[in-house]
Amino acid sequence: MTSSATSWIDVKADSDFTIHNIPFGIYSDPTVSHRACTAIGEYIVDLYELANAGLLNVNKNVLEKPVLNEFIALGKSVTTALRLRLIELLSHPDAGLKSNDELVKKALKPMRSVQMQMPVQVGDYTDFYSSIDHATNIGTMIRDPKNALMPNWKHLPVGYHGRASSICVSGHQFHRPKGQQKPADSDLPVYGPCKLLDIELETAFIIGKSTALGETVSTAKADDYIFGMVLFNDWSARDIQTWEYVPLGPFLAKNFASTISPWIVTLEALEPFRTKGYVQDPKVLPYLQYQGDKNLDIQLDVFLKPAGGEENKICSSNYKYMYWTMEQQVAHHTINGCNLNVGDLMGSGTISGPDPSEYGSMMELTWRGTKPIKLKDGSERKFVNDGDTLILRGRCERNGIRIGFGDCAATVLPATPDQF
Ligand code: CA
Repeated sequence: MTSSATSWIDVKADSDFTIHNIPFGIYSDPTVSHRACTAIGEYIVDLYELANAGLLNVNKNVLEKPVLNEFIALGKSVTTALRLRLIELLSHPDAGLKSNDELVKKALKPMRSVQMQMPVQVGDYTDFYSSIDHATNIGTMIRDPKNALMPNWKHLPVGYHGRASSICVSGHQFHRPKGQQKPADSDLPVYGPCKLLDIELETAFIIGKSTALGETVSTAKADDYIFGMVLFNDWSARDIQTWEYVPLGPFLAKNFASTISPWIVTLEALEPFRTKGYVQDPKVLPYLQYQGDKNLDIQLDVFLKPAGGEENKICSSNYKYMYWTMEQQVAHHTINGCNLNVGDLMGSGTISGPDPSEYGSMMELTWRGTKPIKLKDGSERKFVNDGDTLILRGRCERNGIRIGFGDCAATVLPATPDQF
């Protein structure tokens, strides 16, 4: 199967959704409660309609579910072939779609006219801590600059189990979390709205193949288990976190909201953007070693938009700065026999780069609030204010090929009144 470099649909040069992307998502609109779709240029393409017209070799019933889990569970032999078929239909004028005016009208809808939904039901959510620049910054700030990394950090991809229930799709709003914080000048905690609300610029990958309890996945086989990636904002309440995290790690500081972008960009679409990562020194244990370039060159930007105001870019980072790869994360996650399920979501951890403009959280960008960020409207931010919308964007560009993720955005509302 071949694909030409262009689509017969008009796609702008800076579009996230070129013919080289063809991601998967779930949409709804006034006539459709939920269906699988892909994106091309400014349009979504309803996959159920294409299957119903006999253009896709897949059981159309899996394309009208509320989430993509059943579709993904068909396996890469099916989903990869389907994606290649979509590329054919959207690039070759005589492949059977362009010539069918009625179907084009039914299946292609302007993206602005539909609502994107959660693409998968996330069973379990794991968050790693795999950016060396981020871990070094945090360790420097809250522990010891000379020993910023814990002794285990370069030997295993540190992670913790998060909570799936509060993962929401881009475009949502949530109330500022409330909880316990300990003022610096007191030994006793106080209760109230979080004062240090932060973002975490992350990506996440969606598990595409389940394993049995006791089964382990090697780094060499890990890609078979990774369906694709999304952008991920792991909202964090730093004041709640600082007080609660000892000794078991994050709890209520992290589980009140996390935001994902609606389109799952497949690993196959990302393959052309593989690159080298940091050299891992000391050498890792054999089960974590891998062959080839397994990092990815994904440019990441974060924008802060005050209520009624303009977008302000507050940082630019890149996924290539990850110390631990997704393949190592899968191998480590399963080395004890823990099973994976289709739809599980694994966060990268905050992705910071070496330059201060590349830090992936407000905590780092403002160095714990000591260096406020100046916005275009003259205001300053140490952390996130009520009414602020935070938007993550990500794209890959190489050899004239561009793909992107679409927006990962959420707005912070004031804390709700107390109910006790
Ligand atoms: Ca995180």
